[in-house]
Amino acid sequence: MGELRVRSALVTGANRGIGLGFVRHLLALPNPPEWVFAGCRDPKGQRAQVSGHSPPHLASAEVTDPASIKAAAASVGERLKGSGLNLLINNAGIVRANKLDNETLKDMSEVYMTNTIAPLLLSQAFLPLLKKAAQGSPGSGLSCNKAAIVNISSNGGSIKEVYLWEGIQAACYRCSKAALNMLTRCQSMGYREHGILCIAFHPGWVKTDMGGDFEDKVREFLAKSVGGMLKVLSNLSDKDSGSFLDWEGKVMAW
Ligand code: NDP
Repeated sequence: MGELRVRSALVTGANRGIGLGFVRHLLALPNPPEWVFAGCRDPKGQRAQVSGHSPPHLASAEVTDPASIKAAAASVGERLKGSGLNLLINNAGIVRANKLDNETLKDMSEVYMTNTIAPLLLSQAFLPLLKKAAQGSPGSGLSCNKAAIVNISSNGGSIKEVYLWEGIQAACYRCSKAALNMLTRCQSMGYREHGILCIAFHPGWVKTDMGGDFEDKVREFLAKSVGGMLKVLSNLSDKDSGSFLDWEGKVMAW
């Protein structure tokens, strides 16, 4: 079994929920990264203080603002002092629990911007740093220890299964995550030659502000989900790039 050993990682939406879970777990690895960048839209704000328990490096990133994304990439690049970024975790996401009948242009656009376009723009902005990490790592195959883009998707985006339609329709969210899965596939095709592995994850149904905090048997606890995803990441190779997996490594239906 492999071990996740990266020098640097950046997680978007890292001030709470699954993103904060990633930051905490990365810092607690037996060989933690030297640089864990916790991306949040307001690093000086109260909500970002949640991640101040140990020393992640805060990175200002409003993921719907291209200028903010570019500034984040420049600032991270400066702090890495010439070395690359191994892991980009596109985690920030939103949902609007609309019914099909009251879905709106505004909600469709906002959710698509945050959940689909932002991961595209972030990956483009951080590409030079990801390439640098891949070039600076030994070995010829793809691996998260070299360079990887991790897109946090959802089973809600599965066209085949359409999970939980009776409970929550949220076409805006489903479409955004189905498109994110396609984006992951495209990135895997385009970035393979640069040595960058690309993966889409369903994190499970996790108790967060988005996932809710009900006591039932379905919702996965945060630590279990994030710990599971990091374990899966440590074992990915060429054949996995472009896949849609769950937090336990099971292949999800597109
Ligand atoms: P939360 O609602 O708990 O947290 C969302 C995070 O995203 C927050 O840190 C939030 O920051 C950030 N964010 C939202 N919009 C922006 C933005 N424009 N710029 C920067 N940051 C932003 O969600 P979860 O932690 O539950 O979800 C994380 C990811 O996992 C999402 O992509 C979600 O779709 C996915 N997912 C979650 C599931 C679950 O059961 N929880 C199930 C399947 C997928 P702020 O505090 O500033 O709002």
